[in-house]
Amino acid sequence: MSAALVCKAHGTVIRYLHVCQHLYNSYKEEAVPEALEVHFKGTLRLCVACYTAYEKQHFPEHNFYDLVGECLEHDDPGMEQKLEDLSGLYETYCKAIGEHYFCGHCFDELRIRNARRLGQPLPFIPYEQTLDHRDTDTLGRLETYLTGHFTFATSEYIRPGEPALFLRQGNISSPLEIAIYHVTEAHEQEALLQLIDHFFASIEKFQRRVCFFEKETWIETQYENGVGRTWVPEAPLKAILIS
Ligand SMILES: [Zn+2]
Ligand SMILES: [Zn+2]
Repeated sequence: MSAALVCKAHGTVIRYLHVCQHLYNSYKEEAVPEALEVHFKGTLRLCVACYTAYEKQHFPEHNFYDLVGECLEHDDPGMEQKLEDLSGLYETYCKAIGEHYFCGHCFDELRIRNARRLGQPLPFIPYEQTLDHRDTDTLGRLETYLTGHFTFATSEYIRPGEPALFLRQGNISSPLEIAIYHVTEAHEQEALLQLIDHFFASIEKFQRRVCFFEKETWIETQYENGVGRTWVPEAPLKAILIS
């Protein structure tokens, strides 16, 4: 499986579940039966019947992470062999449950619908009033509005040469994030917050997180054929959540 899945509802998504066929069929029919997970190179999510059936045939008592942890902790000389065996088991398991992938956002939406239908507590606070994949036009207007009314510093790394303002669209489990870099003075932050409030007063959706970051941070690594850069997630100077 590649790093992304194309969902009819959500477009290209990087968060998805690898499930057994029974869970896949249940999710398609709006049911969320009990499930168990096996972790190794990835996470496999299985119905109770599959988990029990395969566990008897192929699986050790512990989950894979525990076993890998134990091997590492005890500096086990047979570690390499054990990890190889586990890897083989994992592949066997993958083959047995087949290639069934379910979009992570669709699953989150399903969990919320399911909890509401059954009158159960919601599994997380849903962001249903946030700008998401359906709102690219509005997101574009927001960006144009902000860059037209405020002079942003230039991005050095995330999008070199562009304004250091990044709109990260929301989904049901997280709100739209408006990430602003290099705006550190309180009065400038306040001016931006007012612009953002003004924009949102003109549309229906309102849930958002505004984060001010001091600077874009990355680590440079020297390779034979050049320099590689890895982004380091920053802690915001200030974060405001409207939910
Ligand atoms: Zn199953
Ligand atoms: Zn989806």
